[in-house]
Amino acid sequence: MKKYKRISLLCSICVLFIISCAKEKETKINTKEAQNELMAHIRFLASDELKGRKPGTEEAKISARYIAEQFRASGLQSFTNLQGYLQPAVLRIEKNSKELNNQLIQSVLCNNVVGYLEGSDSTLKKEYILLMAHYDHLGIKKDGLVPNSDSIYNGARDNAMGVTALLYAAKYLSTVELKRSIIFLATTGEEEGMLGSKFFIEHSPISVENIVFVLNNDGGGFNDTSLIRIGGMQYINYPVDLTQLIKEEYQITSLPYPSEYDYLYEKGDNIKFAQKGIPSITVSPGFDKVDEQITKYVHQTCDEVNEDFNLNYLYVFCQVYSSISSYMANKDTLPFWVKSSKYHSSNCKNKY
Ligand SMILES: [Zn+2]
Repeated sequence: MKKYKRISLLCSICVLFIISCAKEKETKINTKEAQNELMAHIRFLASDELKGRKPGTEEAKISARYIAEQFRASGLQSFTNLQGYLQPAVLRIEKNSKELNNQLIQSVLCNNVVGYLEGSDSTLKKEYILLMAHYDHLGIKKDGLVPNSDSIYNGARDNAMGVTALLYAAKYLSTVELKRSIIFLATTGEEEGMLGSKFFIEHSPISVENIVFVLNNDGGGFNDTSLIRIGGMQYINYPVDLTQLIKEEYQITSLPYPSEYDYLYEKGDNIKFAQKGIPSITVSPGFDKVDEQITKYVHQTCDEVNEDFNLNYLYVFCQVYSSISSYMANKDTLPFWVKSSKYHSSNCKNKY
């Protein structure tokens, strides 16, 4: 009898071992698949063929269509008062001419890309968390002084990376329970003065009053992969300890922008919502200081997916962005402005 028990125990151990190996393999494959998918998004959006995604160009239209089809594949709904996932907008932007510093203003037809997931809670679903990243960049500018130089501003870090995180969040969040509704917005015209986000607010498919928190996603690059930066983090009280949560789950430190770069908070799409009283943050890749590793890419033609580009970090960055979003969608209370912050005002949306 004892012998049979030993054999049975041995068999159980073997079965458990096989199951655990299979699970480990499955997790590894999924991680690898997810990473490959993220790489495909960023490589496509930052490809030379999209010519820097300048608003109003054919290549910007292709970029918008790509994002829209990713939204569709993730099961996002579209607003009936828009054109599918596209929100057409006529914007006044600078047209790049062949020579640098010789630019004309013109009206061009552009598109924001918008989709949403409806929350499951009958009351909270009327509150919308807005996730946002700009997909436009600077296009092509020929440097008349250096013939045959690279003229395509690919914008891999700024902001194909942010759009990749937005697409990851759309795919991931469509598989989990969400009490509040989430809008996914890929804006155009950010580089032209945040024109796409301004247009969205002025022509929102839902009442802007119902947008309770904005997580923008933008950046110029990274030189510290142990960090993520959250612009405006210090202006807002959160229903969870954000720093601790990110540390526990992803072993990564989250910090506001360094004080000397806090002005960047006012340079992104998030500010348009902050000015409306809506608590808003911008999640950015990690940097300790703006050194040569950052400046060599910011608004430069070499901002491409190159050997410097850390795939593992991109994956963690996307996961962190997505996790923060799901917490905000599910907590009983909402983030609200710190009273001493300059964005807090008597007409702001603090409900507490
Ligand atoms: Zn940007």
